[in-house]
Amino acid sequence: MAIKNDVIVAIATAPGPSGVGVVRLSGFSLHSFVQHILQIESLSPRKAELCWFYDIHREPVDRGLALWFSAPHSYTGEEVLELHSHGSMVVLSALVATCQSLGARLAEPGEFTQRAFFNGKLDLTQAEAVIDLIHADSQASAKGAIRSLSGVFSRKVQEIRNSLIELRMFVEGSIDFSDEGYDFLASIPKQLTQTFIADQLIQLIKEAQDTLVFNQGRQVVLIGAPNVGKSSILNALSQEDLAIVTDIPGTTRDSIKHQIIIQGISFHVIDTAGLRETSDVVEKVGIEKTWQAIEKADMALVVFDIQQGLTEADQQLINKLPSSLPIIKVANKVDLIHFNEKSPIDEWVTVSAKTGSGFDTLKNKLIELSGTKVNFVPPFLARERHIAELENCLKHVALSEQVVEIEFIAEELRLAQQALNAVTGEFTADDLLGEVFSKFCIGK
Ligand code: GDP
Repeated sequence: MAIKNDVIVAIATAPGPSGVGVVRLSGFSLHSFVQHILQIESLSPRKAELCWFYDIHREPVDRGLALWFSAPHSYTGEEVLELHSHGSMVVLSALVATCQSLGARLAEPGEFTQRAFFNGKLDLTQAEAVIDLIHADSQASAKGAIRSLSGVFSRKVQEIRNSLIELRMFVEGSIDFSDEGYDFLASIPKQLTQTFIADQLIQLIKEAQDTLVFNQGRQVVLIGAPNVGKSSILNALSQEDLAIVTDIPGTTRDSIKHQIIIQGISFHVIDTAGLRETSDVVEKVGIEKTWQAIEKADMALVVFDIQQGLTEADQQLINKLPSSLPIIKVANKVDLIHFNEKSPIDEWVTVSAKTGSGFDTLKNKLIELSGTKVNFVPPFLARERHIAELENCLKHVALSEQVVEIEFIAEELRLAQQALNAVTGEFTADDLLGEVFSKFCIGK
């Protein structure tokens, strides 16, 4: 990926009228921008100064605070100028247009953070933590992202990498000095053995997997026969009118996905087309989508109408589900039966989407199945990419124990280290970097 060092500019705050809006510039020489826009010679670093902002024709655009950061003591590692104006899109756009007239280019999504990465201000896991923090949907996710940003996860990876590097020194040493009669391999300390390193990796993978739920949430499918109240349950869970609720069987022909947050965990609940035999072509497509959603789901809510009980068809549906998929059986419409008829069966969660009864139990059950402890605060936030690289590293460490030839041991350990390097972004493929930074918003 080519490292650009031209001047970039973007509105760093969310669009829409607000008290304050920020335009941010980064590049290796911003003095001419200070002179033109602020009409002053220079600014003191890290000191907010109240200034008039001028456009290219020297007309005042607004009055606000200007903040100057000298390289390398800035977010990007370059010179950075921030203009804090009133949060009017007209003012902010005029400031950006002025910067463009002076030679700046509109920043691409994530380009400020990308520059921070290339200038060594952040490693890749920290850059990813910035995205995760921006998109955090709960206190717990935000705390995990902050901890990753402060380097907690990177340091754990670094510790294992240091052990691997030391181990490689012993192995490479025994290749280079094979004729000297000194047995390097015999002198490897216990904490540098493959077994020890593999144990550390297994522990870190486990920790990382526990945090994954805070980053991407859990996928939940709502399934059951038409008209049992699936859409109504989704509405009650999210307390909004999301899905069209009618009493005509087969209304939900497409999947509707909604995010709900329960105790800091994000659940992506997919309301699916009711599963039944049908000749309707559109409904058939919906049912196909339901099965696709089931394949990707982490858990399923199987809904049935308590008036009818679990029917033969419901049972058949349950039998068709992948055996590994955790399910919660939800008996809906409990408001329609007399109290003494409720006779709830232990494994059912009885609810009424109409009155809201039973929803606390249902939410607790969802938390329980998410595999998260209540009020757990993640020590950092990992992504699937990180776990895949850690597993790749573990695979090569294990292989290095299986092979006999010293050259093969060395090669496996080299590949193991390369996998760890990819986690933090050293020697990472360009296309991966492109993908990571494209997830950012403009101005970050
Ligand atoms: P879906 O086809 O499974 O998504 O079912 P809907 O959510 O569209 O609901 C079908 C019908 O049952 C609608 O008329 C709802 O108002 C009604 N309904 C859903 N849940 C309840 C409930 O808990 N109690 C009562 N009395 N009616 C319900």
